[in-house]
Order: sequence, then structure tokens, then C-alpha cells
Amino acid sequence: MLKTTPLITRILAMGIICSAGTLAMGTSPDSGTRLVRGKPVKQTSTSHTQTQTTDTHSGTAATTSEPAKHSSANKGDSSHWGYEGETGPENWGSFSNCETCDEGMEQSPVDIPAGMPTHEADIEFSYAPMSLTVLNNGHTIQVNSARDCFIDVEGKQYQLLQFHFHALSEHTVNGQHSDMEVHFVHKSDDGEYAVVGVLLNKGEHNTAFAPVFENIPTTAGQSIYAKGVAINTIDLMPVQREYYRYNGSFTTPPCTEGVKWFVMEQPVELSPEQVSAFTALYDNNYRPVQPIGNRKFIAGSSNCECCQARKIISSYNGAGLSE
Ligand SMILES: [Zn+2]
Repeated sequence: MLKTTPLITRILAMGIICSAGTLAMGTSPDSGTRLVRGKPVKQTSTSHTQTQTTDTHSGTAATTSEPAKHSSANKGDSSHWGYEGETGPENWGSFSNCETCDEGMEQSPVDIPAGMPTHEADIEFSYAPMSLTVLNNGHTIQVNSARDCFIDVEGKQYQLLQFHFHALSEHTVNGQHSDMEVHFVHKSDDGEYAVVGVLLNKGEHNTAFAPVFENIPTTAGQSIYAKGVAINTIDLMPVQREYYRYNGSFTTPPCTEGVKWFVMEQPVELSPEQVSAFTALYDNNYRPVQPIGNRKFIAGSSNCECCQARKIISSYNGAGLSE
């Protein structure tokens, strides 16, 4: 299902282009050792790896045989973005065509206040086991959907494109980060994005996620195909499916808005070793929480007379219910 055009290939080879029109997000693959937060990461030489770049949120992937060189990162250079210093989140808005990161009024992630009512568990997950290829795209570890998986929300279907990870979590609850967060990125036929976020905390070993953390490529731009492995995507979700819902944006440049967010209330556990497998490469790839502004968290109740009715619950101001 990967669709690649020469233009997209070129864009991805060049690195991040902050164009709200294309939503193209990629990274420059390296051909050798690179620094991740100052840590040297050795290039792997396993035969089952590929050099590949992938869009962080849209799931587009392209294989390139012409690795781009890293240039020094300058403020205003939209070809690179990161999480620290001059390329960090506070400066994303100064990159060309990334103004939304600064000027947007519905940005993500956000803090979820303590006691915020959840939405009923009404997302229908049509997820299924699929083959596994794990990609290191230079910003995160990502798994592109390898088969037809989708969610159904209020009668609308959104196709799973990919899932990827952040550490610490991007969304906070009552100001508290979880150890990690995974984002399941979906897109509808009419181009609307829906992201399901799951908070991940250190705890028990997670067998469902295990194949991912056992096949992490340590070099940006590489992917590992886990031969003979099937990952059961529905098992990656928490058992309880109530969620916090609000309208936001991508959490990476160009911070495009119009994204439906569904953040699961129940966290999922990973072993400390599984968390470490990710944070050894990326332990600071989270955008700080953004102002909620005039937005409301959207709650729903199966007890209402019309179960399709939604109650809009005031979020930060504790101003009670409105419909
Ligand atoms: Zn994300």
C-alpha cells in the first residue's frame, strides 16, 4: 500500500519540508554513525535492513539509494527539525511553512486535567495480525501498516497508516508524563486524520509489543523486516477502551491541524527493558503540551437517550456541561 512518487522520494531524501499542503515529513538517512542526543549509534550491518525514510505522521514511506548528507542545523532551515536547541519545538514555527506550529490555535499535545470524564469506548477497531517491519526514521521508531486495518468512529472509517513512539509521553494527565506514548495514525478516504494515543508506563513485560522492541534498527534511515513474525495489532490497545477526545494537530512539523485525537485513558505497560530499547535511541522526542485555548474535550455517554448525542464537557475551566 506504499505509494511513492518521484517528488515524494526527492522530498524525503532531502529531509523535512514543512509544507502544510503535502504533509511530507521525512528525514535524511545516514550512511554511517550518527549522533542521537549526543550518543554515538553504530550502523548495523544486518542483511535484512533497508535504508528507508518515512513520513512521521502520514505513513508514506520511500526507499532511497541516495542518502542525503546532514547539514549543520541552522534556525530557519526547514530541512531539519529536532527536539533540542535551535531545531527544537520552540523554534519550529520559524521554519518555512511551519507557521502553524506557532500560530495554530488547536495544537497538540495537550494536558488532560485530572478528573476529566472519558468518552465511552465506542471506537470499533478492525485491527488484525500483520507482518512487521520496524523503521528508524531519524525522529522515532515507526511501524507502517502492512495490511488492511482500520477504525470506525461514528460511522466513519479511518485506515491505519502507521504507529510510532515518543518518550516521554506527549500528552500529560494532570501535568504528569508517562514514560512513553504510542500514536496510531489513521486517515479517512476524504483525507481526515485520526490519531489514537496510548500512554505507556514501565511495568510488566508486554508480549504484544515485544516484536517491535526486539527489532529496532539503531541507525536512522534503516528498517528491519522481522521475518516470520506477525504482530497482533489489536493486542497493542489497552483492554479498556474509554478515551479522552479533542481536536488537535500533528505534534511534529508542520503541526497541521484538523486531527481528531483519541487518547486512551488506560495506560499500557512495558517492561523497563522495552522502554530502554527505545530510549537508548530517542529519549526526548516529545513536543511540550500546548494551550487548550477555547477547545473542549468531547465526552459521550451510552446512558443518553440518543447514544449518538455527544456532550461537550468544558475542559480547563471546569465550567460544567454544555451541549
Ligand atoms: Zn506522534
